[in-house]
Amino acid sequence: MMSSGCEDSSVNTMGIRGIPEQCGCGRRFGIYTSKTKVNPGRTFFRCPTFQNDHLYKWVDEAVYEEVQDALPKVECFASDVMKIKMEIESMKTVEGELKEDVRKARNELKKLNVIMKVGFLVVCLGVVICLVLIMFDKADGLSLNTY
Ligand SMILES: [Zn+2]
Repeated sequence: MMSSGCEDSSVNTMGIRGIPEQCGCGRRFGIYTSKTKVNPGRTFFRCPTFQNDHLYKWVDEAVYEEVQDALPKVECFASDVMKIKMEIESMKTVEGELKEDVRKARNELKKLNVIMKVGFLVVCLGVVICLVLIMFDKADGLSLNTY
């Protein structure tokens, strides 16, 4: 069968791309809303320790990365679906051809049946004609002998 190239090959070792599962320290992050003038109301993931070398990431950026990383997989799945559709189409064609073959074979069989019946009749007729001829021959012989 065909092999799918859609295995998840992306290794998220650092937890850098996409939506993080937890901070590097193992703590579950919190979601906070920025109150700065630069990014007012913007939400971000952050380690509850609030230390600079711990998780800190904008939610919109994480979601954007998540979608970007998922796109090749989606495209891959889409092409797989296309391949499967094409396989089904070719199977349908083969099925149609097989049906056509069966129909042809049935017609051939019908023809063969007719030919055999006709042939049998011809053979029977031949046998009857031969018998009649032999009988006439014998009759002639008899009539000749009696003559
Ligand atoms: Zn942390």
